Amino acid sequence: MGLLDRAGARLTSHPEEAEILVVNTCSFIDTAKQESVDTILEMARHKTSGSARKLIVAGCLVERYRDEIRKSIPEVDAVVGTGELEAILQAAGLAAPPAALSPFNILTGGQAAQTRTVGQGFSPGIQSVEESRALAPEARSSASSSLATRPGQESQAGTHKHASEKQNPMKDTGFSPYINPAQSAGALAPEATSRAEGDLREQQGRFRRDEWQGATHLLPTYLYDETTPRFLTTPKSSAYIKIAEGCDHPCSFCVIPNLRGKFRSRRFESVVAEAHQLVARGVREITLIGQDTTCYGEDLGLKDGLATLLDALAQIPNLRWLRFLYAYPNRITGKLLDTIARHDNICKYLDLPLQHASPDVLKRMKRGAGAGIFLKTLEKVRAAVPGIALRTSFIVGFPGETAQDSVLLEDFIKAAKFDWLGVFTYSDEEGSGAFSLDAKLPKRTIESRKRRLMKLQQSISKRAKQQWVGRELTLLAEGESEETPLLWEARTQFHAPEIDGKVYINDFGDLEALEAGRFYKAQITEAHDYDVVARVLSGPL
Ligand code: SF4
Repeated sequence: MGLLDRAGARLTSHPEEAEILVVNTCSFIDTAKQESVDTILEMARHKTSGSARKLIVAGCLVERYRDEIRKSIPEVDAVVGTGELEAILQAAGLAAPPAALSPFNILTGGQAAQTRTVGQGFSPGIQSVEESRALAPEARSSASSSLATRPGQESQAGTHKHASEKQNPMKDTGFSPYINPAQSAGALAPEATSRAEGDLREQQGRFRRDEWQGATHLLPTYLYDETTPRFLTTPKSSAYIKIAEGCDHPCSFCVIPNLRGKFRSRRFESVVAEAHQLVARGVREITLIGQDTTCYGEDLGLKDGLATLLDALAQIPNLRWLRFLYAYPNRITGKLLDTIARHDNICKYLDLPLQHASPDVLKRMKRGAGAGIFLKTLEKVRAAVPGIALRTSFIVGFPGETAQDSVLLEDFIKAAKFDWLGVFTYSDEEGSGAFSLDAKLPKRTIESRKRRLMKLQQSISKRAKQQWVGRELTLLAEGESEETPLLWEARTQFHAPEIDGKVYINDFGDLEALEAGRFYKAQITEAHDYDVVARVLSGPL
């Protein structure tokens, strides 16, 4: 979106007005693929009934089914994979910047320009396009993001710096996060190289796509940086920063490494510079993301990379809330926890996807550990950061999961008492290690196990939220509730954007009105299963 915006396109969220439609897709599990296809078909209708003349499909579905998308959905004019973002300009009929000014100057090799497809045909895992076409439009979800553009208006072509011209924000601080003094402040940091673990997995075939029909063999290698144009779609006070791309872990249910490539970190200085830029634009809450944030910096020679990065970011004036998502369980170090505990503006919040608690299932998932080890980790986390909110997610119905495994998981959830918990049903993905496993479970068994877990968590959450009543907390006001204008929605530091429960404000106290994106002191007055209700005491803070 940043590239399109800078090239002169005017962005609109109303597809019926647009000349060019872009659907950004996901393809890591069946439901995501289906949702992506449904959204493409929904947008395709605007080519016959609206002003749209081009339909572009971008993102992970393209990495998986590059050829097949165009063959099965002829309304699609161009596809743009996750490693060739600049191709969006050409696809939209806009001029690309000269190669020397590419914002993706960390991209290595010529992968973006070369594609080689293998095989043909849509995977059986995805509902047929014809079936999807037959669905009424209102039955389709439109949650896959779609973007519409009107090209050729008010060119804002700016300049951006090539690597050699970039500023190093750490240069004058005398601070270097790198272990090797040669990689010190004053010189630009090294670019990402692969981790030994990633190289080993590559040799073992972890990232191979040969069996994927209609995909390209070449993995994405790009990383954006602080000079890459961004167009924020989040509320003005909040933004995500992606600190790394790809993943080297061997989880047998997961095809994200095949879609996103090997793990690679953004330069430390680049992340810090981007955070400064966002705060200067009015952002007050930053959420760090990546497929595995806790590996951050290992490929750059950083020791305790994530903790060191958090330390640097926490010192940015006016940054009120800082958090990271997607921690890998065996990488929660004492240093990381100390860093969370030490800074007031690092949210007391940890997202730790555990996937299961049965050692047998975890072993077959190629993740290891089990309930006993996880409980010790949680104990360590809670002791180091009192009051921390814990989020996790589980997969139910992994091949061979027994009724006993399921009971073990329930007992673990009872003991662990997570603040927030998500449950995914196993999705059998071609190209994943688990795809070839026997003992696949019937859908109804998987769904019933999911229902049991969600019911259990509902009762745990209800009891926990009742303990919130009477507490005085700082809230970030987000705006009027979508359900009724009588309520406002807000979050505490214990709620990550978009994924956790909500705080509803039904009483503004002495204030005439609230302002979205501002912080307020409030008292919790009521608790529901996942959400709470609050009354404002003072603010904005
Ligand atoms: S760590 Fe996450 S992204 Fe990486 S392979 Fe495992 S589940 Fe997939």
